[in-house]
Amino acid sequence: MNFSDLGLGPKTLQGIELAGYNSPTPIQSQVIPLVLKRHDLFGCAQTGTGKTASYTLPILHILENGRQRARMPRVLVLAPTRELAQQVEQSFTQYGTFHGFKNVTLIGGESIYEQEKRLSKGPDILIATPGRLLDLFERGRIMPHAIEVLVIDEADRMLDMGFIPDVEKILGLLSKNCQTLLFSATFSEEIKKIAQKFLKNPDEIFISRSSKTAETVEHFAVKAEDANKRNILKALIDKENPKSSIIFCNRKKDISALCTFLKRAKLSTAPLHGDLTQSVRTKTLEEFKSGKIRFLVASDVAARGLDIDDIDVVFNFDVPNNAEEYVHRIGRTGRAGRKGKAFTFMSEKEIKLFKAIESLIKTKIPFFEVLSEEDKKPEMIKTPKSDSLPQQPSKPIQSAPTKHQKPRHPNKGPIIVGFGNEIPKFMMHDLHIPESHDSKAIV
Ligand code: AMP
Repeated sequence: MNFSDLGLGPKTLQGIELAGYNSPTPIQSQVIPLVLKRHDLFGCAQTGTGKTASYTLPILHILENGRQRARMPRVLVLAPTRELAQQVEQSFTQYGTFHGFKNVTLIGGESIYEQEKRLSKGPDILIATPGRLLDLFERGRIMPHAIEVLVIDEADRMLDMGFIPDVEKILGLLSKNCQTLLFSATFSEEIKKIAQKFLKNPDEIFISRSSKTAETVEHFAVKAEDANKRNILKALIDKENPKSSIIFCNRKKDISALCTFLKRAKLSTAPLHGDLTQSVRTKTLEEFKSGKIRFLVASDVAARGLDIDDIDVVFNFDVPNNAEEYVHRIGRTGRAGRKGKAFTFMSEKEIKLFKAIESLIKTKIPFFEVLSEEDKKPEMIKTPKSDSLPQQPSKPIQSAPTKHQKPRHPNKGPIIVGFGNEIPKFMMHDLHIPESHDSKAIV
């Protein structure tokens, strides 16, 4: 199927050509004709399926063929996170290059006065997080009566974040004839109820849950307990030397500790999580995309939906709490046929979660041995010299002598991490244990 078969006009097709898309994704070929018929729609699909273009493209066509009334906005897209809102804005801007519609993003954490100024210019499209939209409405800055299409994107995330009452209030402000499109990555009883409440006789589209990871991505599991995860990560970074990498953590407190650790190792690193101000998050993303920052230590919420290409390694510092999140995380690498690697650190207590991932992606993920058991001890971790490492990824990296081997001279042996450049002298001497001594008693 081609985009030209879907009923889109020439300006929209030009925009698609500019974006470099050859053919519609499954969700696009199903959703675009339904939106053009002006039906309400429930779409169950995740990011990465081409979902954003499935609604932005037909909306551009609808706007082109309608008429603006008294400089009032005609389209409203509600998004749960600032990042998603900004990405939707970029989509409208990119695909709408030949239409010239004005769009404005209204998100918390940015100057409300600036947003008021932009609203006064009469935008056609509003992209907003629910709270900020209501603030601006209450300040009398938004006339919502002419809105013809409402999109509620990532409704499941809105539900998780407690935004549904705000969305309901917003729906109450809109015309009864407004066409509503609701997208959710998951389908639960609660989402079903919300869809029934918000939509009028909707068409339903289900794009099967994402269990596919790019074939160009190599997956590895790394046995690691919490106490030695950081050192193992550092050893892997030395070995893989990624140009650009995301490290996903399940807990926010791990993000800042890990950033400090990596910065101490002189690696350009920045955190990305929901507690940071919008300006910091935007700056961080720009610096990451430009290559100024090599390592992004991120939470799932902050990284969800981010459209960042060119990542060569994804590290899962923890096994994600649900298997689909793994597919999302790994989707950051191996894009457009490029090669990528994904390392997932797995402690004893995470084995069950890990097995769920293997069964979702229908792949047995091989183990990658980073350090010997002795090296993993947190009190004296040794990492290998990167140039002395074997090239085969599934082979153990021979890093440091084990307790059964004699320590080597520092010039010939591995770097010892944990003492800076100063290694205590006593550690440099060979051990001489009398024959009669019971070595078990010494250990
Ligand atoms: P989304 O699911 O909206 O987050 O889109 C995921 C990625 O797919 C984005 O980087 C889009 O630019 C890209 N994309 C969307 N539609 C197409 C298409 N028809 N062909 C190729 N890439 C696409």
